[in-house]
Amino acid sequence: MRPSILYPLFAPLETLSGIGKRYCVLMNNLCGDKVIDLLWHLPSGFIDRRCNVPLSQTLDGKIWTGKVKVIEHAVPKTKKQPYRIAVEDGTDQLILVFFKVFGDSVTKQFPVGAEKIISGKIEIFNGQLQMSHPDYVVDAFKPEQMPLIETVYPLTAGVTNKMLNKQIFQALARVPELPEWQDERYLAQQKWPSFKGALQMVHHPQNFADIEPNAPARQRLAYDELLANQLSLAIVRERLKKQKGRSLANAGKLKEKLLSVLPFALTDAQKRVIAEIESDLFGEYRMSRLLQGDVGSGKTIVALMTMLNAVECGCQAAIMAPTEILAEQHAETISELCDKIGVKTALLTGNVKGKSRKLLLEELAAGNIDILIGTHALFTEDVAFKDLAYVIVDEQHRFGVKQRLNLSQKGNLCDVLVMTATPIPRTLVLTQFGDMEYSKIDELPAGRKPIATTVMPLSKIHNVVEALQRKLNTGTQAYWVCPLVEESEKIDLSAATERYESLRKIFGDAVGLIHGKMKESEKDAIMEKFKQGMLKLLVSTTVIEVGVNVPNATIMIVEHAERFGLAQLHQLRGRIKRGFEAGSCILMYGYPLSEVSRSRLNTLKSTEDGFLIAEEDLKLRGGGEVLGTRQSGFSNFRVADLSVHGDLLLTASKDAALILRQDQNLQSPRGQALRTLLYLFEQDEAIKTYNAG
Ligand code: ADP
Ligand code: MG
Repeated sequence: MRPSILYPLFAPLETLSGIGKRYCVLMNNLCGDKVIDLLWHLPSGFIDRRCNVPLSQTLDGKIWTGKVKVIEHAVPKTKKQPYRIAVEDGTDQLILVFFKVFGDSVTKQFPVGAEKIISGKIEIFNGQLQMSHPDYVVDAFKPEQMPLIETVYPLTAGVTNKMLNKQIFQALARVPELPEWQDERYLAQQKWPSFKGALQMVHHPQNFADIEPNAPARQRLAYDELLANQLSLAIVRERLKKQKGRSLANAGKLKEKLLSVLPFALTDAQKRVIAEIESDLFGEYRMSRLLQGDVGSGKTIVALMTMLNAVECGCQAAIMAPTEILAEQHAETISELCDKIGVKTALLTGNVKGKSRKLLLEELAAGNIDILIGTHALFTEDVAFKDLAYVIVDEQHRFGVKQRLNLSQKGNLCDVLVMTATPIPRTLVLTQFGDMEYSKIDELPAGRKPIATTVMPLSKIHNVVEALQRKLNTGTQAYWVCPLVEESEKIDLSAATERYESLRKIFGDAVGLIHGKMKESEKDAIMEKFKQGMLKLLVSTTVIEVGVNVPNATIMIVEHAERFGLAQLHQLRGRIKRGFEAGSCILMYGYPLSEVSRSRLNTLKSTEDGFLIAEEDLKLRGGGEVLGTRQSGFSNFRVADLSVHGDLLLTASKDAALILRQDQNLQSPRGQALRTLLYLFEQDEAIKTYNAG
């Protein structure tokens, strides 16, 4: 249960004065419906009213604050005219302008001869200083009523900055003194304030440096958030580790056999990750591990080698791919090798129906199939294994984060390995997959040919077509990827269709078109034709599958490459890396080309290292975009920004591990304070672990 000291912060917004039901709805859309949500609504800037030059020295557009004396009123003759009041400060005159004045409000506020402190934006009109509707007017003898610095927040219709300032002021007053959860020495070293102090500072910036993400107060809060995130993931990871699993220890006969029929030797990186995975598989607990490797790093063979452990123990293994094409491709590779060593495999996709499906399921239940390969179809209700011990999910990021938790439920204490083909920056691995162990293949098989990447303007498209013509005549195949138009598949499609039509005029029947609106079976058919070489040039939207293997296709042309994400372009380019000869990738861009896009395209030109590219992509675009999973459970931080606070995350990750090593049950005084931190960032899930145990 949440500690009572936090109740005031988790109370509904209505408990603040001046907040009614309707206002709550607006606020809920803006930041949330609890008091603490207001505190996480961070300023985007501030208005500085400290400027106190004489009126004669102020400039057009400046915020001016100062003491003035009221000289005279000019009452409008018609309703359309504004109400004007002349004031002066001894150096110059200023006209206050009011539109739509009701009753005597203005007359009362500005009696002639009175002295007032006012603040607002100066305009110069026909050489005359003016200020329409001053932001603040206070009596000259009450200067303390003038807020010299006004914090500016992101707003929404119906919520003004003044209201927000008032409410956040109230919310801040509710923040209790909390026991310090951070290491005191680290705090001192970083010169960070206390939690409460940091919140105060963040909401009351004094200069521009204070609203930067690297201001000490912001760093402190970001670190709090990151530590809460890393600590809760570490707690879940520890909990999973303690779950009883089964040991798949074995003599390794099947693996030896496989190695003897492999046409190549494993790379050191492959050997290392296999050992890492096996240390989990052989252990008594359940495995939950992420395997990363760039396109072409040889993950499939790692998957197969490790699955043989289950088979040798007399159990079953399954590998799941996100699409039918990929599942089929895996099945091809895996069954070819397995046939040679007497291991039974089968493919199960949505295409397997009726009698053959029934037969397959019977064999599976009887234990006559050792390795099952497929799509999500693997995990439909009626698929029952005899004894599933190990599940591999390929190209994970397309499956939601929640789905991964449901995966192992088919099996009996199943071990789970997740493989991703999209390199994920270290920071995102920590925040999104921090509940899993982690392995990385950081080396490609020797002898891979480099890809020549060229960047050129779309205006040179006819040169590209000419060169393509020559290449296709020599028997090479090529992909032509059409622009992605944001939010609109329809427009994507019409661009691709148009390009297809125009290329058909040149290349005739050798051109095919594939796009996301096609049925799975239609896509498969086109892909098959391309694989067989019946099509030479494949025009597509971005649907061409990650990992599809057509060794004869060594050219990739991307139209409007500036509209794609870096990681996406890297993936596309990866498709021609599997070829018999060195690939060439042509990135065509349209104008106007922004600085960011230009530097993105140059990054691609200069490196093929997917991990480096992923880090760049993160810097340029932010986490959700990179993973392509904004919708599937990507956690958005409220204070922390991974493109700025990446180093803090790494520290938080180490800190979390250290904390659990020293105080596994969070019992020490600091441990107790850390529990409060977890509640504060709503990581209640992690704490349940303790309460249950
Ligand atoms: P990915 O990691 O992209 O899934 P794959 O497993 O599809 O990569 O492997 C890509 C290609 O590299 C395949 O043709 C595979 O046979 C080959 N390969 C894998 N490991 C090695 C190795 N150690 N030496 C040479 N070729 C390898
Ligand atoms: Mg693969």
